Amino acid sequence: MADKKFRRIGVLTSGGDAPGMNAAVRSVVRTAAQNGLEIMGVFGGYRGLVDNDMKLLGSRDVSNIISMGGTMLFTDRCDEFKEEAGLQKAMKTCQENKIDGLVCIGGDGTFRGAQDLTRRGIPCIAIPGTIDNDISATDYTIGYDTAMNTVVDLVDKLRDTCESHARCNVVEVMGRNAGYIAINTGIATGAVGIAIEEFPFDADGMIEKMKELKKAKKRNFIVIVSEAFGAEFSENLAKRIDEETGIETKFARLAHVQRGGRPTLRDRELASLMGYKAVELLLEGKSNLIVNIRNEVIGCEDIEYALCYDKLCKGKIKVEDIKGFTDEQIAKMVADAEIRRQRMLSSYEIASKISI
Ligand code: ADP
Repeated sequence: MADKKFRRIGVLTSGGDAPGMNAAVRSVVRTAAQNGLEIMGVFGGYRGLVDNDMKLLGSRDVSNIISMGGTMLFTDRCDEFKEEAGLQKAMKTCQENKIDGLVCIGGDGTFRGAQDLTRRGIPCIAIPGTIDNDISATDYTIGYDTAMNTVVDLVDKLRDTCESHARCNVVEVMGRNAGYIAINTGIATGAVGIAIEEFPFDADGMIEKMKELKKAKKRNFIVIVSEAFGAEFSENLAKRIDEETGIETKFARLAHVQRGGRPTLRDRELASLMGYKAVELLLEGKSNLIVNIRNEVIGCEDIEYALCYDKLCKGKIKVEDIKGFTDEQIAKMVADAEIRRQRMLSSYEIASKISI
């Protein structure tokens, strides 16, 4: 797949870190090396481009990182890069270091940065790395599976002690505004209630159900709440459950522990395949794409399209306000968004039906 145009490419991790980012970096470095390319590891996301903080990486420099959480390239949030002056500094750094293309691993903010660089002449391919799984153009993001397994592990522990003491534990999980972590960990831990922003949460109904279950001698109760509701919500819900059901109720915010740890098989595999695909796309002369996985197939999507589709899925844009795409593309966005919504709704409804 080698293309003479590329002699050296860069790789960076940006925005929130996610387990599996290292596996993606490793795959990018090794794929590039296999194709005779030099590869620059850029430190601290776009900050490293603005400040010219990078070093050449060989295949052996990424030995032994596939099983490590965090990111060996570090990450940062760089507001300077969002301004034209910062972006120009980044462009200059790329030119000085003879970087012909970039692989940018991160979330939607990172994709916007990749878009800006591509528009100014540095071809970029983005890889979705975030525990939140809040990138609609892909079924899974790197780090999501590990974060969910961390939650399951911790909630299982809480459940043990709830069972001993006949208690309830309200657990707030990450995911930003997306309820994916909450809904799937809620199902996997047998939660009696799951609160996510996407669908109405019936707190009264859940409390009534808990009263009935208490009468039926159920002893442990887990309620999973998405962080999307804000800081007070979970604690207030715990107080309310305690007062109205008479079940002693504790509150736990799992917070950043969800971001760390050794990546699961699924995340290592996904990251490895996506890293390979990203370099392949660059060498095919493509740019401004995010690598994705849809129905178990690794593919890619135009960043512009992916960001617009994401807004549609999240209700941030109305169909009639979508500009710059063909009617066919818009129809596909609408149909896909509905499939995504229905899948989540189905999980949400099933979770409620089986938590009795
Ligand atoms: P994530 O990539 O996880 O969504 P952020 O939103 O913090 O995380 O974005 C990561 C970085 O990407 C930011 O610190 C900034 O450098 C860059 N970035 C974010 N938004 C934009 C934007 N609109 N235009 C250009 N660069 C951006």
